[in-house]
Amino acid sequence: MTVVRRPLDQSVLTIPRGQTYIIPQRCKGCRFCIDFCPKDVLEESTDINSKGYHYPVVSAGKEEACIQCTFCTLVCPEFAIYTEEIEPETL
Ligand code: SF4
Ligand code: SF4
Repeated sequence: MTVVRRPLDQSVLTIPRGQTYIIPQRCKGCRFCIDFCPKDVLEESTDINSKGYHYPVVSAGKEEACIQCTFCTLVCPEFAIYTEEIEPETL
């Protein structure tokens, strides 16, 4: 028999969400943000910036997937990506 255990405060829990902003001209194409995003929000662009690098873009269908962990901002060596918190998702 499976026992499903729910937190007592589930009705007030929310999932953080973020809006991702990318500054293509700063990017050097290292892929850190793409490879380390826990929600696979990002992928390489098909376009290149003025230095010839494929900068990150939000993958199709992942527009609502960012959980505002800010990890992409932390690992980017060029300060080329950041997120802003938006209305959280309720459970
Ligand atoms: S904030 Fe986190 S979930 Fe959102 S795009 Fe950056 S690494 Fe991915
Ligand atoms: S971590 Fe920064 S420099 Fe590297 S691919 Fe992402 S945006 Fe570009």
